[in-house]
Amino acid sequence: MKRYDAAGGVEFLGFAGIARCHGLTTPVLEFAPPSHHTRSMIKSSSTERAGLENIEHWVFDLDNTLYSAECRLFHQIDRRMGEYIAALFDMSFDAARRLQKDYFRAHGTTLRGLMTHHDVDPADYLDYVHDIDLTAIDPSPALDRAIARLPGRKVIFTNADRKHAEQVIGRLGIARHFDGIFDIFDAEFVPKPDPGIYDVFIERHDVLPARAILFEDTAANLAPAAALGMTTVLVRPGEDGVVNDSGAPHIHHVTDDLAAWLTDAAGERKSAD
Ligand SMILES: [Mg+2]
Repeated sequence: MKRYDAAGGVEFLGFAGIARCHGLTTPVLEFAPPSHHTRSMIKSSSTERAGLENIEHWVFDLDNTLYSAECRLFHQIDRRMGEYIAALFDMSFDAARRLQKDYFRAHGTTLRGLMTHHDVDPADYLDYVHDIDLTAIDPSPALDRAIARLPGRKVIFTNADRKHAEQVIGRLGIARHFDGIFDIFDAEFVPKPDPGIYDVFIERHDVLPARAILFEDTAANLAPAAALGMTTVLVRPGEDGVVNDSGAPHIHHVTDDLAAWLTDAAGERKSAD
């Protein structure tokens, strides 16, 4: 499974079955996930979703959660990271890629490696790597309608930066719903799933974990949230995709269609009122 760092906000490359990509209808699996659950095996049921009537804070990861990994934005960002390092050190692209991966392994993110060893300006780096073509992301009226029906506050909790987040939710046509964005600057460049960052996030946004739910495509990022008492939802790959750790105890719900799941959740809440 390919790992990927805070620049794009994705720790593992996965596939979310929502907000399909422009011109792409078939998931492109490039990395072998560790488990092989079928779609039917892990489809969330209404009984599993008991307790959603208490949710007041809806917390969303950004990349590959609010839009599908089929959009392959990561591939653009990953290449930009290599280009940035190649230009910084006047080295070949291949050498830059090796250095990038070394920093990622040693520091958790490429950015932290660059900041630690070379005092790189994070804003300069993040601006560069996120200067990508977002037209692969289509507007998602279904997600817009689904989020509109949710009562309470909606916040984005991302390992990417605010500017990228704003561009993505703008492209999706869902920006109007969000009350806040917690980005990698707010996290002082310590990415999810570092448990300490979750404490900073919930304090900053007045989130009560027992009344909050987190949506993520990266299973590992759900663990600290569940430990705090948050409800968790793994937004998993589309029909032909497979997902990591979907049976783990810190994953309370799994869906391959975020908009549909949210619509169902809102409907259940309404009928429970
Ligand atoms: Mg993600």
